[in-house]
This record gives sequence, structure tokens and C-alpha cells, in this order.
Amino acid sequence: MNARAHQPALNHTASYYAASSLPQPELAALKGEVLADVCVVGGGFSGLNTALELAERGLSVVLLEAHKIGWGASGRNGGQLIRGVGHGLDQFTNIIGVEGVRQMKLMGLEAVEIVRQRVERFQIPCDLTWGYCDLANKPRDLEGFAEDAEELRSLGYRYETRLLQANEMHTVVGSTRYVGGLIDMGSGHLHPLNLALGEAAAAQRLGVRLFEHSAVTRIDYGPEVKVHAAEGSVRAKTLVLGCNAYLNNLNPELSGKILPAGSYIIATEPLSEEQAHALLPQNMAVCDQRVALDYYRLSADRRLLFGGACHYSGRDPKDIAAYMRPKMLEVFPQLSAVKIDYQWGGMIGIGANRLPQIGRLKDQPNVYYAQAYSGHGVNATHLAGKLLAEAISGQHSGGFDLFAKVPHITFPGGKHLRSPLLALGMLWHRLKELR
Ligand SMILES: Cc1cc2nc3c(=O)[nH]c(=O)nc-3n(C[C@H](O)[C@H](O)[C@H](O)COP(=O)(O)OP(=O)(O)OC[C@H]3O[C@@H](n4cnc5c(N)ncnc54)[C@H](O)[C@@H]3O)c2cc1C
Repeated sequence: MNARAHQPALNHTASYYAASSLPQPELAALKGEVLADVCVVGGGFSGLNTALELAERGLSVVLLEAHKIGWGASGRNGGQLIRGVGHGLDQFTNIIGVEGVRQMKLMGLEAVEIVRQRVERFQIPCDLTWGYCDLANKPRDLEGFAEDAEELRSLGYRYETRLLQANEMHTVVGSTRYVGGLIDMGSGHLHPLNLALGEAAAAQRLGVRLFEHSAVTRIDYGPEVKVHAAEGSVRAKTLVLGCNAYLNNLNPELSGKILPAGSYIIATEPLSEEQAHALLPQNMAVCDQRVALDYYRLSADRRLLFGGACHYSGRDPKDIAAYMRPKMLEVFPQLSAVKIDYQWGGMIGIGANRLPQIGRLKDQPNVYYAQAYSGHGVNATHLAGKLLAEAISGQHSGGFDLFAKVPHITFPGGKHLRSPLLALGMLWHRLKELR
């Protein structure tokens, strides 16, 4: 029997995206020895965008993906493209200064622009739709939104933002759960797997050599790295690790700095125009403010894609639909008779301070990485790709230096204790929510 037949997870998870994607070309696995300026590990947004940006700067790049392009979080996420990186960036003022924090905030806005430009330049058909709304669960959230709106104004944000009070919420969402919102017309939603596939195709056109089913099993570090997969290896001057929550033990130093957590999504059957309009009248993506947040949006064929929850046990719920459907019905009881066509989950990588970890290894200065987007990576991965490519190609990158300056703690207890620790931390935050 073919070895792959034992490993169904090598192909895309059975998501709505996999079922509605652009054609997924079968790319060859790495065989023999290959040379490159840069070897990138991971075929998600982090790896693809770094590869693409490096190729644009004239470097030769090989990218190795263990499964399929977009197999990880990048091909199965909520598709919400939301401004900003990290959370509470002012906490880093003592490390990077007031101006550094301001630059990071501006990069959080630039990150969305990079996606916009990719889609436009490479004509990627990924249903990019503008319009997003933060949903307030309690009045305190609304006060936070007012501060966010003020900050966006002070940063010169050029898209419409608007605070909504409880009595205006019906214009955005057909649910009575929320006490207000913040509309942002510079954020939106898209089909993430199609974005990844479109970026992979663009990278190939720029000369990037992509290999699928090529899990990296070992890395020999040194002034030249040698990266081993089952049937081949890559020798390169520089290595980029873009494996995020799926890194496992490939580099324990980096995996020790992220806690993998499961997030889950269900997709309904296609809704009628009338039904869809009643749920999300302006076709915006929305997200609430709880620790285990609900995030949802309509797909281009009018399914409700409802995501949420956070599982830290490392075990997915046995029946994701049975787990997620009650959450959806709490928001939209009117969907009780609607069928769920798809259910799936994926791993997000959470860092202790929730800032994306973008840098290079202290002891291996030719090894770069980007990870830990804490569930908010569709935009931030694109920024990371640009910053890594600038740094690797020797362009002065003030942005890379700012991110690289921020230290990230290693979670104590190794991989067996990390998830229970995260569960405890989240429980604490949820208890605080009840106050
Ligand atoms: C269910 C879910 C919903 C989400 N919703 C949103 C959202 O709506 N908006 C948002 O902004 N963010 C969201 N996120 C987060 C976002 O998807 C991620 O932050 C982002 O996609 C991370 O991209 P990445 O390329 O770093 O990692 P991934 O996309 O996870 O890619 C890592 C890749 O590395 C490969 N890999 C790992 N080890 C090896 C190896 N040894 N050799 C070769 N390859 C290897 C994996 O196979 C994988 O394909 C969500 C995440 C999940 C799971």
C-alpha cells in the first residue's frame, strides 16, 4: 500500500474552502540535492509571502511544504482580513519607545494593504470583500472601540470607521446579542485558500521552486544550512521557518514560544438572498470581543461561516458541528432548521504577549522565522513576509528590527505542560469576563 494512504491529513482538511477552491496543482516532492540562496519551510501565508518577496528581490528560493500549499491555518481560517498586529502594543513602549510603537501600529495598517496589493497585482480570485465590524458584548467594549477609532484617526487611517450604538446594530447583524460596534471599511474578508493558491502561483512565476509532501525532518545548521526531507535536501545560505502552530519539534527553541490552540468553523448550506441579508445585511465580517470569541461572515455563495472556540487540549472535538452549532444558534436562533454542510478546525499559534514573533535566531544568524499570530494572521503574515525579505536581502528594515527587538518568553514545562497552562490562562480571562 502507498505510504500516503495511511495519512489522509496530507491532503487538505475537508473544509468548505478545499471544496470550493481554485484548481490545486499537485506539486512534486523534493528529490535529490538542490541549491538555493534561501530555503523557506512552510507553505502557508508566512512562507509563501516571504518566498514571493525574496524572489522579487532577485534571490533564488526553494520552499518546502510538508503537505499541500495552504494545508495549515492559511487554507482553513475564518478569512477575516482585519487591520492591526498584536494586542495592546503600548506595553512595548519601554523596549522600542513611543515612536517604535507608533511605527508598529502603522505596520498593522500596512499589513492589510499588502494583501490588497497582492490580490490586485496578481489578479487572485479570492472573493475579497471590504467591510468589517467589531461587536461589543458589553458597554466596556464600546468604550474600547471609541479609543480604537480615535487612535485610527491619529494614525491617519484613510478608510471609513464608525461607532454604532445598540439601536443601530441591526444594520450590521441580525442578532440582539450586541450592545454596539465599530465598523471599519478598510478591513474585510476573503477565501483564504484561494489567496494562498494564487500567491503560490505568483511565486512560481517569479521563479520560486515549490515542493509539496516534503516534510523537513532535520536541519544541519551552520554558515550554510542543509535542510533534509525524506528523499532530498536543500543547501542554502539562509533558512526561513514559517511553520507557526505546526512547527512541532523541528526547532524546539521556537516551538517553545508558541502555544498551539484549536479553533473551529462550520459552514451552513447556501442561504437564500433574503436569509443571508437578514443575518449580515452589509455582508461584513464580524468578530466579538470575548476571549473564546465568535467570528463569522458570509461566503461568496451565501453560506454562513461561523467560527470560534479555542481548544487547548491538543484534541479536536469529536463532532465539530455538534460543538459549534449551539454557539451559532445562540447568535442566530433563526438558523435552527439550516443544514451544516462543512465542519473543520485548525491550529492557531499563541504567544505570551500576542505580538507576532518575527526575527532571527541568536545563535544561528542565518535562520529567520515568523510565527505566533495569535489567531490574527491573515494580514500579519503578509507583513512578516515583507519584513523578512527586506532583512534577508540586506535592505535596511526598521520594521524587522522593531519586531526582532521584542523578547518572547519560552513557556515553561515543555510541550506537555504548555496546553494545560494555556487552558488555565484562558479560564482566568473568562472568569474576568464574568465580572
Ligand atoms: C480555524 C482558524 C481560523 C482563523 N481565522 C482567522 C481569521 O479569520 N483572520 C486572521 O487574521 N487569522 C485567522 N487565523 C490565523 C491565521 O490563519 C494564521 O495566523 C496564519 O494563517 C498563519 O500562517 P502561517 O503561514 O504562519 O502558518 P500555516 O498556514 O499554519 O502554515 C504552516 C505550514 O508549515 C507546514 N509545516 C510544518 N512543519 C513542517 C515541516 N517540518 N516541513 C515542511 N512544512 C512544514 C505546515 O504543513 C503548514 O502548511 C485562523 C486560524 C485558524 C486555525
